[in-house]
Amino acid sequence: MRRSLVVGNWKMNGTLASAKSLAEAIVSGIENTNADIAVCPPFVYLRDIDQILQGSHLKFGSQNVADQESGAYTGEISASMLKDINCTYAIVGHSERRSYYGDTNESVAERFSQALSQGIIPILCVGETLEQREQEKTFQVVDAQLDAVINLAGIASFEKAVIAYEPVWAIGTGKTASDEQAQEVHQYIRQQIAKRDQSIADKIQILYGGSVKPDNAKGLFAMADIDGGLIGGASLDAESFLKIYNSI
Ligand code: PEP
Repeated sequence: MRRSLVVGNWKMNGTLASAKSLAEAIVSGIENTNADIAVCPPFVYLRDIDQILQGSHLKFGSQNVADQESGAYTGEISASMLKDINCTYAIVGHSERRSYYGDTNESVAERFSQALSQGIIPILCVGETLEQREQEKTFQVVDAQLDAVINLAGIASFEKAVIAYEPVWAIGTGKTASDEQAQEVHQYIRQQIAKRDQSIADKIQILYGGSVKPDNAKGLFAMADIDGGLIGGASLDAESFLKIYNSI
């Protein structure tokens, strides 16, 4: 039986004060520890959030990590820096990074490896655009995104990783994949991992992301291969985020 996981991606939102009060409200609202739960605040707030999470069930992650170990990479944050501040997870390959900041399948694979090298659990985001779905290229796109990581880091690296299937057309648009549409791709991803290693495929958490809200979470999370969610907009409101977590 896989444990479920719900992760909030706060993106570039809020202030120090609002980030702290959001984290406090989530910590005090967690009623059960049946599933894992984490938030990914902006980098500059991570240490303050860590103080609030101490001793609670809530973990934190970063929204990105550098594809290099250290050196002259202005503006980047390395995996060892994140390790220094007890970061548990690092999102890599979010579609906003891929489309606005030029992240490629290869650089995402490097970020994934850097996170793992410091014992940080990468949350690898994969997913197709609307155009790619309409051209029936969803599986092809997801394959290329997964293959780049498998080729660089090896299948064994997925032992300590999380995958998030996030159809780009569903992110921040209010359009969610139907339970069946999401399940179809989750099952495909698990099969692709199983072809290389059945036991990792059985264990790996595959999250769904794309306009998950309290009213659609239950149906999505009930699907056989959906092990929780990566939540954007709805994670900025403690009550919504907790309702989503509690629907596991
Ligand atoms: C995301 O950005 O990872 C995401 C899923 O956003 P939203 O829930 O707002 O669609």
